[in-house]
Amino acid sequence: MAGQIIDGKQVAADMRAELKEEVAKLKEQGIVPGLGVILVGEDPASKSYVTAKERACEELGIYSDDNRLPADTAQEDLIALVNRMNNDPKINGILVQLPLPKGLNESEVLLAIDPDKDVDGFHPMNVGKMMVGEKAFLPCTPHGVIQLLLRSGVSIKGANVVIVGRSNIVGKPLANMLIQKNDKGNATVTVCHTRTKDLAHHTKQADIIIAAAGRPNTVTTDMVKDGVVVIDVGVNRVEDATKKRGYRLVGDVDFEQVKEKASLITPVPGGVGPMTITMLLYNTVESAKRAAGLVSDE
Ligand code: NAP
Repeated sequence: MAGQIIDGKQVAADMRAELKEEVAKLKEQGIVPGLGVILVGEDPASKSYVTAKERACEELGIYSDDNRLPADTAQEDLIALVNRMNNDPKINGILVQLPLPKGLNESEVLLAIDPDKDVDGFHPMNVGKMMVGEKAFLPCTPHGVIQLLLRSGVSIKGANVVIVGRSNIVGKPLANMLIQKNDKGNATVTVCHTRTKDLAHHTKQADIIIAAAGRPNTVTTDMVKDGVVVIDVGVNRVEDATKKRGYRLVGDVDFEQVKEKASLITPVPGGVGPMTITMLLYNTVESAKRAAGLVSDE
């Protein structure tokens, strides 16, 4: 029997509606959450991400300070802009869209962001706090994955979770979050990568598979057990002459086959993607509440 599809667009829309209400309540107290956005250069994918983030801010009533800089921007000018935002009380979160053009030092820029405004959750201070189980901004894509699971009624506690991928933005933070002793964690986690000896051996044991490899068909139907829950983080372009733009987007999982065995599965697009921006907005609202000295709900 085919499994149910986890509708990431719907879950994201529900969360955004909750956030919109929260923003409206904060406004009654004179608090307007603000996001500072920095885009350097002309990369089309980055431009469309940034535009989507700015639109989402507008929709929720979050103030956004948009800065589009030329690709030849000097490192010190970029750092100066980050510092200006660090000191601007109207800004609760700073987003530097990655990747930066060649010649700019990405890690230096990310380190310049005030950890209290690091709504992407990439600053080592937040990464460290998350690791030791202290309150921190959680990175958006992994936190989005966890929200998708929880809001779909999946029990993470005690589950065998296999993550395919160990990047600093998805696999590693996700593994960390899932092993924490809290209501988003308590899972038993295996992290696989390109040096893993027998990927299928691990995925076959999994109650939950999270694929974040960046390669189509990394997880196929022979690699999963009946009833598995599958979250596909991957976004890959594959040639498709039937499409106007010449390609279509697919995840890392063979969706059509695996959905026949899975109890729950996310599609690509329409699964994890919509959650990533939502969690950025969530962190920005959270930051505004912290700055105002309001007790957070977590
Ligand atoms: P990444 O930095 O390229 O990392 C990929 C990871 O997958 C690496 O750890 C790699 O292992 C592992 N891997 C690759 N092929 C594998 C295979 N055949 N078997 C086992 N492990 C394999 O990628 P990323 O930034 O984490 O992103 C992963 C995917 O998620 C990409 O498609 C990206 O576009 C997508 N993504 C989506 C969102 C969203 O919002 N939807 C957000 C972020 C990323 P090694 O470490 O050994 O090289």
